[in-house]
Amino acid sequence: MFDLKRWQQVHREIAERAIQPVRVVAVTKGQALESLEQALAAGVRAFGESYLQEALEKQRTLRSWDIEWHFIGRIQSNKTRLIAEHFDWVHALMDRSHGERLSRAREVTGRGPLSVCVQVNISGESSKGGVTCEALPELLAGLTDLPGIRVRGLMTLPELVGEDSGQKVRQRFSRLRELRDACIAGGYSMDTLSMGMSGDYREALAEGATLLRLGTLLFGSREVG
Ligand SMILES: *Cc1c(COP(=O)(O)O)cnc(C)c1O
Repeated sequence: MFDLKRWQQVHREIAERAIQPVRVVAVTKGQALESLEQALAAGVRAFGESYLQEALEKQRTLRSWDIEWHFIGRIQSNKTRLIAEHFDWVHALMDRSHGERLSRAREVTGRGPLSVCVQVNISGESSKGGVTCEALPELLAGLTDLPGIRVRGLMTLPELVGEDSGQKVRQRFSRLRELRDACIAGGYSMDTLSMGMSGDYREALAEGATLLRLGTLLFGSREVG
């Protein structure tokens, strides 16, 4: 079930607290189609999905809607073509070879570059991966000449869900913002800080997130996936 009140409340908080424009991507992995339809009826137009097959099925059913689709899951080499064809954004790029494959596949579609975020592993100990801060410059340099993708910014995931204090979470988000600023100072044009999920979006907002990825907060617990 899509929770319209929660959606509106999050947007009130954004209006009150954020110092820059912030978008909310409704993370619909594991949610039933009816929940997506409810969100669409309420005006939501950006959905995040982690599992390709599940996403493609939903996209087929909802193809009459003008939806911005975000692939937020792990990228696998053999899935890059379908991802490039069926999504507008990719949030967890951490590998140059995946960038090359996405770029090539995207060029064939003639749809203009795919927006991507590079996933950064802030403390270097994330179980969910991402490129380390030290390796980020080299990866970014290797992605700039790929015509089919456009690096829009950086993304991060919490390291240990639920076990970190708000203070630690904020430090991590703050570090990602500093990295983004350093990238901009280094000549990269980035407009996106993809950070903040249901459990930590307030900390992310306080540290300058421009894109929140909210799932269970908006839809309740996931049915599948
Ligand atoms: C599932 C997921 C989310 C949403 O998580 P919630 O805690 O349900 O808000 C956000 N980002 C990524 C990368 C995810 O995999």
